[in-house]
Amino acid sequence: MSDTCGINMPHTAQPKGGFVSPKGRNIPEPIKRQIRQRCGFGCVICGLPLYEYEHVREWSIVKQHNPEDMTLLCPTHHAEKTRGLLPVSDVLAANGSPHNLRLGISEAFPLRYSGDSCLVNVGSNRLMHDFTRDAVIPLLTIRGCPVVRVKKQDGRLLLSLRIFDKEGNLLLDVNDNELIFSVDSWDVELVGRRLTIREGLGAILAQVEFYAPSAIVINRGIFAYDGFQVRVAADHIFLEQYGIRISKSSARMNGGAGFNFN
Ligand SMILES: [Zn+2]
Repeated sequence: MSDTCGINMPHTAQPKGGFVSPKGRNIPEPIKRQIRQRCGFGCVICGLPLYEYEHVREWSIVKQHNPEDMTLLCPTHHAEKTRGLLPVSDVLAANGSPHNLRLGISEAFPLRYSGDSCLVNVGSNRLMHDFTRDAVIPLLTIRGCPVVRVKKQDGRLLLSLRIFDKEGNLLLDVNDNELIFSVDSWDVELVGRRLTIREGLGAILAQVEFYAPSAIVINRGIFAYDGFQVRVAADHIFLEQYGIRISKSSARMNGGAGFNFN
């Protein structure tokens, strides 16, 4: 595994009590993950899943990455702290009781979908919809419940989807462009446009890429409703009920519906 700067950091390179990076401020992935887990995968103050890894005490003093001395802050709260407007005592208090862990779910993150068309790629299957007027279009329906849906309303394009784990627990809920995830997962990470939910090291439960303003790619996940499960892998979707695999299908619509499973 490599960190965001592309430098390989073997797990064994982590001494007890902290890690001094040979390149300075690069933080090894295992340490980042520990910080994410302890902080509820979001800014400890507001819960936003768009954050920076922050030393509670100044880097110039500590010069090592000790996960216990680090926290997650969104760009706004990071900037407030840097300017001295956010007291370190407030950061420490939030670090001891992170926003998302108190709520059990993340703070809602707004997705910026807009325009007249939407492409949903589910396990290599492409569903494209062109809107000619306001409408609600179910793209993936299970037993009458739309689990992936796009909506054109008052000129806005709104995306909704719900991804579950194997036990039927909701992991990811996008409701009209508002993204919320459960903090019960082992790891949740938003890197660039890609949200990844893991159940263990290298074990991805769900992975979605948000190509705003008009596309979404679902690489991994489970859509479930009323006992019916649709499993998504990178190159296919699998209908548990019937043992059927669907891959590389393509449809472009300006009405009607997408996949409908009963
Ligand atoms: Zn924040």
